Amino acid sequence: MSALFRLPDCFVGHVVEPVWDLYERSVRLQTYRRLELDQFDSPHALACRRAERLNRIVRHAVATSPFYRQRFDGAGIDPAKVRDMADLASLPLLTKVDVSTHTDEIISDRYDRRSLVPAKTGGSTGVALHVYCDARGVERRNGAALLADTWSGWRLGQPMAAVWGNPPEPVTLRNRLRRALKDRVVFLDTMKLDEAAVRAFAADWRRMKPGLLFGHAHSIFLLAEMVESMGIELRPDGIVATSMMLLQPEREVIERVFDRQVTNRYGCEEVSLIACECERHEGLHINAEHVAVEVLRDDGTACAPGEDGRLVITELVNYGMPMLRYEVGDRGELHDRLCSCGRPHPLLRAVTGRVADFLFAADGSRVAGISLIENTLTRHPGIGQLQIVQDEVSRLTVNLVRAEGWREDTVEALTTFFRDALGADLRLDVTYMDRIPREPNGKYRFSICRVAAEPAS
Ligand SMILES: [Zn+2]
Repeated sequence: MSALFRLPDCFVGHVVEPVWDLYERSVRLQTYRRLELDQFDSPHALACRRAERLNRIVRHAVATSPFYRQRFDGAGIDPAKVRDMADLASLPLLTKVDVSTHTDEIISDRYDRRSLVPAKTGGSTGVALHVYCDARGVERRNGAALLADTWSGWRLGQPMAAVWGNPPEPVTLRNRLRRALKDRVVFLDTMKLDEAAVRAFAADWRRMKPGLLFGHAHSIFLLAEMVESMGIELRPDGIVATSMMLLQPEREVIERVFDRQVTNRYGCEEVSLIACECERHEGLHINAEHVAVEVLRDDGTACAPGEDGRLVITELVNYGMPMLRYEVGDRGELHDRLCSCGRPHPLLRAVTGRVADFLFAADGSRVAGISLIENTLTRHPGIGQLQIVQDEVSRLTVNLVRAEGWREDTVEALTTFFRDALGADLRLDVTYMDRIPREPNGKYRFSICRVAAEPAS
């Protein structure tokens, strides 16, 4: 599966990568270099570039997409005058239902759909989505991801190790060549995570010496636990946890075992990278050169910094299928200050979970399941992993993996804790498991709400 030979990292970084981009006529590295140069610009310079990009994508969307033409007409917005997200405040949000029912009308008529790059999405949201991006847009997205990778400590040209469900196998010769020369990725398939797989992964690791450990946060956590118990030492230069919530107690285990700080990243298939921590870990820098992030209350007004709300994303680089004010389905909050690193990109203080996975308390209020879990894991010894599933407002299933130091009376303590948070009549069913079950797309969800509608308070 991996390369038979190992090229020097600096050769790959300085020769193979640029030549490959030339060969593919890609702007990926060009984008990366420009973003790298611009990353410590003044907030004013960044704002000017964003205003220009927003204006350009809005004018393009209205001129070439029937869906947006109608929406902007309806909202009475003149696309030529849009310079700031505030200018789009009266534009209705783009929901997942809009995307799935109006795919063709959203796609720009300047592009042939067959030339666009499709994204797989919708695995666990219940709504299957077909989202596309033009090839240039994908290259720009990849350039931004490269820059974010370097914030973790990884350097361009170093191999990577990916901990993933269902790793892709290269099929074509071109893809195999690419894997051997350039991508040089060591994979661990978390769909079958056992000692033999971890031992094979560690052997690949020693041969390839990856600079970056990359994957779903909980998968990296499971790997950390296994290498620790097996006495294996792996030392990446950087660790990037992505695609899901990074729980603080799991983060601590990963950082202890690999002796590196975790770089938390937030993105989705529809718009790629949304925000990423830098080397200071003071919050997640919004990928502000490429996306605009709004945090909104239920009534559609903007949240204050530190106030939790719905995340709404506008992407500035996808001309094939413009995504303007896309309601991504997650919640989060903005920071009230900039990062001490000096980069002008605003910070997301936290991504607090999927809108759909906030639990309901008996009084009708909503509770972030992730913070309940973090509290539980830090308070009670003997709990390895935890998943909570709310089937009805008054019923909570707790899937629990016991760890060393487990005590029977912890169940009582859990019951008290969850009743305090969700209501005195809450019924708690505890199920002991060896491992938290995974979604069909390979991701984990710790907090699942199956209560259909908002209950009356
Ligand atoms: Zn920073």
